[in-house]
Amino acid sequence: MSLEKKEIMNLLDKYDKDEITIATLGSHTSLHILNGAKEEGFKTAVVCEKGREIPYKRFNVADEYILVDKFSDIVNTDIQKRLQELNSIIIPHGSFVAYAGLDEIENDFTVPMYGNRNILRWEAERDLERKLLVEENIRIPKKYDKPENIDRSVMVKFPGARGGRGYFVASSYDEFDHKINDMKSRGWIEDEDIEKAHIEEYVAGCNYCIHYFYSPLNDEVELMGMDSRYESSIDGVVRIPAKDQLDINFEPSYLITGNHPVVMRESLLTQVFEIGDRLVRSANKLVAPGLNGPFCMQTLVNDELEVIVFEISARIDGGTNSFMDGSPYSYLRYGSGMSMGRRIALEIKAAIEKGELNKIIT
Ligand code: ADP
Repeated sequence: MSLEKKEIMNLLDKYDKDEITIATLGSHTSLHILNGAKEEGFKTAVVCEKGREIPYKRFNVADEYILVDKFSDIVNTDIQKRLQELNSIIIPHGSFVAYAGLDEIENDFTVPMYGNRNILRWEAERDLERKLLVEENIRIPKKYDKPENIDRSVMVKFPGARGGRGYFVASSYDEFDHKINDMKSRGWIEDEDIEKAHIEEYVAGCNYCIHYFYSPLNDEVELMGMDSRYESSIDGVVRIPAKDQLDINFEPSYLITGNHPVVMRESLLTQVFEIGDRLVRSANKLVAPGLNGPFCMQTLVNDELEVIVFEISARIDGGTNSFMDGSPYSYLRYGSGMSMGRRIALEIKAAIEKGELNKIIT
């Protein structure tokens, strides 16, 4: 049974609006979500796996610690009840979605949630994600339906291969075939995985993950910051001379281990705002009420200065940790100290003041 918005709104109606708690799962971006909430005067709560609470205590970001045996217990009825007693608004982030699970979030998790809970599936499933991007003609890597059609360097991705383990690059059908057979013989993939292989143009470019915030309260897309990814083992292996890389017959993975703050050349910002506006428009059409709050476009910029989007997050993205004290872009808009977490709190505060929480909560 899918959750009715009315059910959540009834719960929200009962909340004491002067005593709202901003709550999230203790992982991913929770440090600056909670810190930002405190800066804007909210109470804060963190749901955390026992033994993982140390950073939150050391940085003193939470008023309330709800310790659970495992992160996925956040969906347990007693934990939901506790969160509701605290008048909690949950901020969803990547780890929250992974541990709570999409089905649970869509059907059973009744704690009022910031943002559009129904859009989370659209970033998680490649076909839906693609629809969102194609709807408003956002430039994405060309997709190949058949390996026989490979006519340039491509990246081959497998479903569920989080962190790009087992992704590979090929430049022809023969090379694709050779690498697939090699992976099969190592037992890394089965025949059914080959069917599901996603083949897309390999974009030789620099990585920029662009963090936006869309406020439905004032209908504006804000550029909040940018990061680039520090991925293991690919970013480590480039420290080995090329001839040694060949010698060790190395299979790279793209597991994110950290983020660098980054800025783009200024002339690209027109494209940055344009694609942000487009994604907001297409989300509005395809999954009403659309994007609401933070979102991210993971891009590669090639030497023709095209900003090419290879993935999106329809909620706060981990790269926002690179600007917990503000970014050059949030500085231009807000002055110093505006993290994404604080921006979320500011939005919730504005919605409470205007009596418009229903516009930003699902
Ligand atoms: P995951 O979601 O498993 O982390 P991604 O799709 O984000 O995987 O890809 C992981 C990494 O692979 C990216 O950060 C980027 O470095 C690289 N990558 C992904 N798609 C492309 C592409 N089309 N061209 C070049 N590099 C890519």
